[in-house]
Amino acid sequence: MTVERIAEKVRAGERLNAAEALELYRRAPTSVLGELADTVRVRKHPDGVVTYIIDRNVNYTNVCVARCNFCAFYRPVGSSEGYVLGFDELFRKIDETIAVGGVQLLLQGGHNPDLPLSWYEDLFRAIKERYPSFKLHALSPPEVIHLSRLSQLPVPQVLERLIAAGLDSVPGGGAEILVDRVRTLLHCVGKATADEWLDVMRHAHRAGLRTTATMMYGTVETAAERIEHLLRLRSLQDETGGFTAFITWSYQPDHTELAGTEATGVDYLRTLALSRIVLDNFDNLQASWVTQGGKVGQLSLAYGANDMGSVMIEENVVRAAGASYCMDEVEIVRNIEDAGFVAKRRNMHYELLGDPIFRERQVPRMLELATAREDGDVSVPGELLKYPARSRAGKQLRIIPN
Ligand code: SF4
Repeated sequence: MTVERIAEKVRAGERLNAAEALELYRRAPTSVLGELADTVRVRKHPDGVVTYIIDRNVNYTNVCVARCNFCAFYRPVGSSEGYVLGFDELFRKIDETIAVGGVQLLLQGGHNPDLPLSWYEDLFRAIKERYPSFKLHALSPPEVIHLSRLSQLPVPQVLERLIAAGLDSVPGGGAEILVDRVRTLLHCVGKATADEWLDVMRHAHRAGLRTTATMMYGTVETAAERIEHLLRLRSLQDETGGFTAFITWSYQPDHTELAGTEATGVDYLRTLALSRIVLDNFDNLQASWVTQGGKVGQLSLAYGANDMGSVMIEENVVRAAGASYCMDEVEIVRNIEDAGFVAKRRNMHYELLGDPIFRERQVPRMLELATAREDGDVSVPGELLKYPARSRAGKQLRIIPN
């Protein structure tokens, strides 16, 4: 089928199959991809509103046994640079988030063998007790699988326990590319196969949670495999309707074992546009300004995105791989309005919360994203000693001298 005929299908609101999506991705000029993606965005969001959320991206530990070769963030068990945040440190981060109008934590971390399920349950309960209306968007599917293996409980039961403790929604991290050939090459098939990742999301949706979905492209996958990833998400969305949004970003190669080069901004815009066209049953697509910077983030609004993602406040994972863009609420709103849209705050369910908060009250400007901890802070939180460790290094830490 010609590109023009495929473009007509998109304009008519018809669904593309894998071959059509691939033909479009390979052959359509970038301007055509953008125009088609924008047509889909306008169909779904005719009001010209572009949303964003004020939340904080917190990584509770960097210790991880998964050792994905594209990851610059993790530290192996026993590393002198490994950390686990204490409950008090997390409360302080929540206080700071609330002070700038934030409504949730995006809480993710490494697969730390020394944090049992009870640690997460106690943390979630403690947060909900202090901040009853504050939301926990927490634990990507591979983390849930890690907890399932660690606790020897099936995934639905782990989710049930986490929900009872306060889990509100699940972030779509750890999807990378949902094709096992790629996952094997990235050393991440062990943390979750494509089917396992999708299955956690299926269970989460069945349990009543809404989740997001992601794609990290630009490592070893082919264009056809990027499309297979999108089609697998589309098919689960047909089944459950539980995804609120899709976010794609390019692999950040600095300081990783895999190394390589970063995809260009044009590749990002083409991939975003294709995602908007293929994922016809997803309501929302976020711009990934944290990997692309503010300008490409703003341009994303013409390539299918209807949401600027998160004000974020803190970021550790992308920064470890070399990208360090920062935008506070003022900057995000400026980018949205300069592109001709109306900026509105939202929650994780994409319900509108109101106009920019900095126009309602004074909030401190944020010129740099915070980090999990000050450099060199390797303190061990006191409550950690209450929880049984699995690793030898973790067990050593728990030995309290008489
Ligand atoms: S991507 Fe996640 S699971 Fe993989 S090594 Fe990094 S922290 Fe661990």
